Amino acid sequence: MSNLRVLFVTPEAYPLVKTGGLGDVSAALPAALRQLGVDVRLLLPGYPDVLDTVRPAYTDLTLPLLPGIEAAQLRVGLMPDGETPLYVLDCPQLYARPGTAYHDSEGKEWADNDLRFGALSKAAALLGKAEIAQHLDFRPDIIHCNDWQTALVPAYQRYMSGVHPYTLLSIHNMAFQGVFGAQSVPALGLPWESFSLYGLEYYGLMSFLKGGLYYADWISTVSPTYAEEIQTAEFGYGLQGLLHQRHSQLTGILNGIDTQHWNPTADPHLVSPYSTHDLSGKRQNKIHLQARLGLQANPNLPLLGMISRLTQQKGIDLLLPVLREIIAEGAQVAILGSGDKTFEKALCKVAEDLPGLVSVTLGYDESLAHQIEAGADIFLMPSRFEPCGLNQMYSMRYGTVPIVRRTGGLADTVVDTTPLTLDAGTATGFVFEHSDPATLLKTVQQALLLYRYPDTWQQLQRNGMQRDFGWTQSAQQYLALYQQFLD
Ligand code: ADP
Repeated sequence: MSNLRVLFVTPEAYPLVKTGGLGDVSAALPAALRQLGVDVRLLLPGYPDVLDTVRPAYTDLTLPLLPGIEAAQLRVGLMPDGETPLYVLDCPQLYARPGTAYHDSEGKEWADNDLRFGALSKAAALLGKAEIAQHLDFRPDIIHCNDWQTALVPAYQRYMSGVHPYTLLSIHNMAFQGVFGAQSVPALGLPWESFSLYGLEYYGLMSFLKGGLYYADWISTVSPTYAEEIQTAEFGYGLQGLLHQRHSQLTGILNGIDTQHWNPTADPHLVSPYSTHDLSGKRQNKIHLQARLGLQANPNLPLLGMISRLTQQKGIDLLLPVLREIIAEGAQVAILGSGDKTFEKALCKVAEDLPGLVSVTLGYDESLAHQIEAGADIFLMPSRFEPCGLNQMYSMRYGTVPIVRRTGGLADTVVDTTPLTLDAGTATGFVFEHSDPATLLKTVQQALLLYRYPDTWQQLQRNGMQRDFGWTQSAQQYLALYQQFLD
């Protein structure tokens, strides 16, 4: 283990708690960094599932967090990988509730999310203090914060005495900013002085993310293209100016994927494993998927898959107007996801009208997600914006050719199919430019045309399957970033 110590603070980490890509990253990146010799430890809120699964031991460390909030106890355990040390912030008043990490059972955001995640940020800042760290035998050199829920760490540090660890704030999605009324400032135990243009203030409100972007020593985001995009009005949500100002301390590092968990040669969710050398098992998975989802049992029909939060970001509104036309081209579509109720309803209506051709499964289903990645021929990801995106990488690894919009991490990971890229053996998918249904339909038609040429199609599949999307390279880039603080 090197001397470098990193506290990785995050609101979610797979498999304990996951609502999206951040959960995957928070499990895989620390594990990959530990492989490189960094002493990384996680800090997570004590949601019931986290406490139940991890059963960590109590420490005698009690952390005073926010005004009027009971002190939290810090528990210590291990992530389910059995290797990564985990600190859990046990504060029943804030976290012992049903529902998800961010929402109640009705899907409404918890009204006190400012306090729930302010407390998490405050705890991380406290763990950076020498007098607290001595109880744990671990004092971080760097606190690696993730998204708005942890973005106040550097703001808390700013108003604490003593010397503090460096802070890196990783943005996984600019669309989520943690914006609350000004009254949150004193409730979070921060001084009014912090509520200024040069701090937390955001158009008269207070923004966790803005505070983080302002106070953190360095900022990273999850793909080089997204690092550029968020400096523009289209993607910056009003913070593009600040991001542009800090562009020399802004780095884009592509996420990796967990290549053990997502491995078509040894995936326990699949009925038949397969590999680059022998793709025949993929057909068995397709037959199984068609049967499971009640789709017509015909492995010769091209099957398009989609696994996604059903939101505007993911381009569901681009797909809906052309879904019937895609089916008319002789394809099947399998969708798994949940989100916006209007989109859920509209998709279910199409599935009802086209039984055996369109399948919509609402909800979260890890096993089905693996089976769709394996059983589909084409993966749809028409996102309006996509900081990094994981599913397009899973797809390529599973020989499922992705159709994506040219944005963020999709632009950085998928190589469009052209005569030139086909010749060069680099083509891995289909990339379109404009966010409109007609362009999406045209791109699907192009893909379906090529699907009729099995040799070329298999070449495309193999090109994608051979790409290395593992975490090692990304972890090395994070390590280089950490090291530059200490040089
Ligand atoms: P985002 O984080 O914006 O939702 P990503 O593509 O970065 O999108 O990551 C999404 C992750 O969540 C992937 O691991 C994907 O497989 C998973 N996922 C999304 N929706 C579902 C679902 N309904 N069931 C199972 N897994 C899902």
